[in-house]
Order: sequence, then structure tokens, then C-alpha cells
Amino acid sequence: MDTCIFCKIIERQQPAKIVYEDDQVVAIEDIRPQAPVHLLVMPRKHVPSLKEVEVADEQMMGHLFTVIAQLARERQLEARGYRTVINNGPWAGQTVYHLHLHMLGGRVFHWPPG
Ligand code: 5GP
Ligand code: ZN
Repeated sequence: MDTCIFCKIIERQQPAKIVYEDDQVVAIEDIRPQAPVHLLVMPRKHVPSLKEVEVADEQMMGHLFTVIAQLARERQLEARGYRTVINNGPWAGQTVYHLHLHMLGGRVFHWPPG
């Protein structure tokens, strides 16, 4: 996708702090962090949001969560906990339409979210 900012980051046409990548997944630091740790974990495949996820994507979706768990472990976030969020569509506050999971940690998070 020529116009997608996350595709550009994945293709290294746009700078970002990449903290992890493999053949399916790329993880970056959020440019406007909302917590001491704020990572975005995304598939290389351009999927706009959860509603476009297909059965063929199930392995990839599982892998996104495995990567998040690994990144949290490396950052010593397991014991205290961390939050994983997917915003879907305008009412949820999605601003970038390339599927991504937020991984937030390093502070207390409240519930319900705002
Ligand atoms: P959403 O609101 O779609 O769930 O989350 C999009 C996230 O992407 C936001 O937290 C925003 O700060 C982050 N973001 C937007 N543009 C860029 C960018 O160019 N680079 C990085 N690293 N993060 C971005
Ligand atoms: Zn994209």
C-alpha cells in the first residue's frame, strides 16, 4: 500500500525505531508514547483492521500475540503486568488503518478505559 504509513515503515521508506522483526511481524516504538513502554506490533501484510482478518490469517494473528509476550518478557513487564490493545474503527480511536497491537507497560492502567 503506497499511502500506508506503517507499510512505509515496514519497507524502510519511513524511519522508525524497529525493536523486533521477522518474516511475518514488525514491532516499533510508538512515536507518541502513552506509557514508559509503548510498542506497536503489526503484520507485514497490509490488513486495515480486525474486520478484514481472514481465516488464512489465523496463524499470523496468533504470532502477533506470541511476539508481544516475548517483548514484554524481555522488558521485565510480566510480573507487574501490561496492557495489549487493538483499536478498531473511528469510535475506538483507530487512526492508522494497518492492523497493529499496542503493547503498553511501565505504569498502572485503569479500567474502564477512556
Ligand atoms: P491507533 O490510534 O490507530 O490505534 O494507533 C496508531 C498509533 O500509531 C498511535 O499511537 C500513533 O502515535 C502511532 N503512530 C502514528 N504515526 C506513526 C509514525 O509515523 N511512527 C510511529 N512510530 N508511530 C506512529
Ligand atoms: Zn499498511
